Amino acid sequence: MCKGPREEGQIAGRFAPSPTSDLHLGNLRTALVAWLLARGSGRGFRLRIEDLDTARVAAAGDVARRQQADLAAIGLDVDGDVVWQSQRRDAYAGAVAGLDNYPCYCTRREIAEAASAPHGDGYRPYPGTCLRLTAARRAELAATRPPALRVRAGGASASVVDLWAGEVSGVVDDFVLVRNDGVAAYNLAVVVDDLAMGVDQVCRGDDLLSSAPRQAWLAERLGGRAPAYAHVPLAVNAAGQRLAKRDGAVTLADLAATGVTPAQVVSRLAASLDLAEPGEPVTAAQLLDRFDPARLPRTPWVVGQLPGWVNRMSTT
Ligand code: GLU
Repeated sequence: MCKGPREEGQIAGRFAPSPTSDLHLGNLRTALVAWLLARGSGRGFRLRIEDLDTARVAAAGDVARRQQADLAAIGLDVDGDVVWQSQRRDAYAGAVAGLDNYPCYCTRREIAEAASAPHGDGYRPYPGTCLRLTAARRAELAATRPPALRVRAGGASASVVDLWAGEVSGVVDDFVLVRNDGVAAYNLAVVVDDLAMGVDQVCRGDDLLSSAPRQAWLAERLGGRAPAYAHVPLAVNAAGQRLAKRDGAVTLADLAATGVTPAQVVSRLAASLDLAEPGEPVTAAQLLDRFDPARLPRTPWVVGQLPGWVNRMSTT
């Protein structure tokens, strides 16, 4: 039998939450868009738990399991095994071994003092301090603290074309591959995993848009191809700040406690994406026929005060 694209080893989109807290409406909406984009283009849809920082936190496993259950509750099915980053250390080490890299002893403060002003997203390009150390100074520093490992990018630049934001270019600095606690850095882990999982379409929140050129560049250094990118405008509260737990009932569990069902949440998310009328009952699967990436709202989604939007919704 001919293999369909949803089988393992085939191309896929993905959702990659960190198990720091339950998914809120903004996360669920991004997951829905990622799923629609993947399924709507005949791709598989993979789930990766980004637990490099939380693997030793006892509750992280429970949070991750609730995240999986919440995705299922709003009708988003996933293919293949769930990938846990905490179990992928050998893959990250193997990738680092194949990359030109060097040890960096700089503290955050030293980088802030030496580097030019941070970019709009707060990211400070590395000024290359440790690249220019004498052997004697390097040995001195090595005796005082463990190093991070940085890729030697040589002042490269890269650009990607985002489905919604268009062309995004950036200088690729010598970014961190392995942190000084020995854990793989975010940019490395994401790229290694996406390549290994057959992910050729990365749809996620637009807070990560500025990481895309760096990650695309790294994918190519690792012998792969950069994925297609699609960054979704974030959800914000009434004050225009990024939606967070403190904004009230924003998770499925919080909402269930106020009588809101997952089906009603899907309906609300669909309306926010201009895929349904306010209050119209609709399932994720039904949205596949209506979804047109070209018509995705390009501005942040303002999540109104609760329970206002609940009251406006039909109870069916
Ligand atoms: N784990 C990241 C987050 O939860 C997403 C990383 C990615 O999609 O590349 O924000």
